Amino acid sequence: MTSKKSLTVAEARQNLFSALTPVSGWEAVPIRAALGRILFRDIVAPFDVPAYTNSAMDGYAVRHADLAAAGETRLAVVGTALAGNPFSGSVGAGQAVRIMTGAMLPYGADSVVVQECVRVEGDAVVVPAGQLSGQNVRHAGEDLARGKPALVAGKRLGPAEIGLLASLGIGEVTVHRRLRVAFFSTGDEIASLNRPLGPGEIYDSNRYTLYGLLTRLGVDLIDMGVVRDDPVALEAALQEASAQADVILTSGGVSVGEADFIREIMARLGDVKFWRLDIKPGRPMAFGRVGSAWLFGLPGNPVAVMVTFQQIVADALLRLMGCDPLPERPLFRVPCVSAIDKSAGRREFPRGVLFLDGGEWKVRLAGNQGSGVLSSMSGANCFIVLPETGNDVASGDSVDVQPFDGLI
Ligand code: AMP
Ligand code: MG
Repeated sequence: MTSKKSLTVAEARQNLFSALTPVSGWEAVPIRAALGRILFRDIVAPFDVPAYTNSAMDGYAVRHADLAAAGETRLAVVGTALAGNPFSGSVGAGQAVRIMTGAMLPYGADSVVVQECVRVEGDAVVVPAGQLSGQNVRHAGEDLARGKPALVAGKRLGPAEIGLLASLGIGEVTVHRRLRVAFFSTGDEIASLNRPLGPGEIYDSNRYTLYGLLTRLGVDLIDMGVVRDDPVALEAALQEASAQADVILTSGGVSVGEADFIREIMARLGDVKFWRLDIKPGRPMAFGRVGSAWLFGLPGNPVAVMVTFQQIVADALLRLMGCDPLPERPLFRVPCVSAIDKSAGRREFPRGVLFLDGGEWKVRLAGNQGSGVLSSMSGANCFIVLPETGNDVASGDSVDVQPFDGLI
């Protein structure tokens, strides 16, 4: 089941998203524990937020109709409204009430004049002309209206969402169950950290970058260590992983030559396609099913692992987790001060450093771009995204960048 044609990143994503549907199952969790989880059911606002019309500023609650269009207006101050301690009377003609931010707007008043622009004279307040009707007032329900969906199923819950749930008095929510992801590294040269390196060996870094990426995504991890390039061991590992996990992630062993070796095992255990992607770094990748689990066979080179994970696998996992719609990942166009060699027909993701130059954001290459070089990944703060249609970049050309860190 190997396609001879190679796939663009967009085609690979499209193939994945049409194959994957969210795993079933949900649980109710306290809202703090819901951070990063995916909402399972709509949340309907049980009441208006704000629950009552209130002042957005410290000042005086007035009736706008009382104010002269030109010149000053003198109003009698008849009381005080504090947050949590409303004024119990009403504001009549020619009257005002001293009011603090968050205090309930007294009956009769419709606008708030900020305290900085008035003059207090004994029990009266003098308001200058130019006040707008309804100014500095927060209306009941202007944030969330009672009976309307405040959050829709499929939403990934971030800090704003758990605060919003709290504002509705909701302490527990129903979220999709956690995705279980088993992962292991492959390769006879790959050594775990707990022993000295033998000749020709390297330490396993992929399992640690994948640990970081998966932990940030908020899945349950099953770390299965390093598996040798041995058909029996690989088969046993894939069997064990598929019995426990929704998703299996492997790194290494999918490039030309090696792919032939594990293709036979994967084909026997399930339905696995080997993809060649028009991407750099990260050309080879496997995708399919092993038993009841989805398999993503990532390339072995450490930066290729990160790029294929971030550009392709992360959204596939989010989809399995129930996230809908998938997050937008904006690109920004900035001048590039480095010349970059680029082959037409593939999407390239060189590592870049965004920097401020005389008030303008620009980007430069972040050192050695080898697909195994993690130090330049660590030194970078963005990907430069060079589309399939583009060729070499000359210094001064504008390019698209994708910052590593968005706002949380
Ligand atoms: P492969 O796709 O298995 O041919 O691996 C490609 C390159 O990535 C080789 O140089 C491997 O040594 C390296 N590599 C594979 N797996 C890992 C790993 N877990 N950690 C660090 N480097 C790796
Ligand atoms: Mg290998």
